[in-house]
Amino acid sequence: MTQRKPIIGGNWKMNTGLESGMHLAGCIVDGFTCGDCCDVVIYPPLPFLQAIESVIDTSELQLGAQNVWCEESGAFTGETSPTMLQEVGVKSVLVGHSERRHVLHEGSALIAQKVAFALVKQLQVVLCVGETFEERESGNTMKVVLSQITSGLANISSEQMVNVVIAYEPVWAIGTGKTASPKDAQEVHVAIRKALGEMFTEEIASQTRIQYGGSVNPDNAAELFSCEDIDGALVGGASLSAESFTAIVKAAYNP
Ligand code: PEP
Repeated sequence: MTQRKPIIGGNWKMNTGLESGMHLAGCIVDGFTCGDCCDVVIYPPLPFLQAIESVIDTSELQLGAQNVWCEESGAFTGETSPTMLQEVGVKSVLVGHSERRHVLHEGSALIAQKVAFALVKQLQVVLCVGETFEERESGNTMKVVLSQITSGLANISSEQMVNVVIAYEPVWAIGTGKTASPKDAQEVHVAIRKALGEMFTEEIASQTRIQYGGSVNPDNAAELFSCEDIDGALVGGASLSAESFTAIVKAAYNP
């Protein structure tokens, strides 16, 4: 068990309705009993953020957003600024999620701008990185992941790293039911931590939390969390069931 506080994120993606989302949030609140043991952040769809904040605001659950823009205001149709998100209670944002990289074609320059601006605005940033199946098969996992880390954190100071969480999410494991083996995931987490040490300091590297994401469920969570450098999970599909998500949260502080 590491000394880093585990962090579990629930990425609801484009799922739930208003009522079902509020119900899900309420059930997660009911099942989450140890805020000192673990940070838990849920990332509901944007239109439901305010309503879901009203369900969780007296709990230890935190509210996150699945996306953020890199300007304060202006002619950016469809986008949402950090301040707008903060006004409805958002504390954390996902940046560089594989669906935004690969489905919506967000590039590394935009991702770096989003990371930098969200941090200036005091949001927690979860920078998601991960290789595709082809990249893994061709032996390029480390090269791809470390390049996403280097470019994503290019404009970040050491002081700002306290608000950064890394999510290592192999693209081929997201929503597919395939999970990286704990050994393979741990190997990438170690490489990420080493890169953070080279970019910043050893101390920052050892304090930064690195989540694993990719088909995490109640059956595989404990084994993943028993790895020294895996500090929690970013959970998609299994976060849509309060029972599964709560079981994953509990596995994080009692792996
Ligand atoms: C994700 O959306 O970040 C994710 C890891 O999804 P899933 O758990 O469904 O693979």
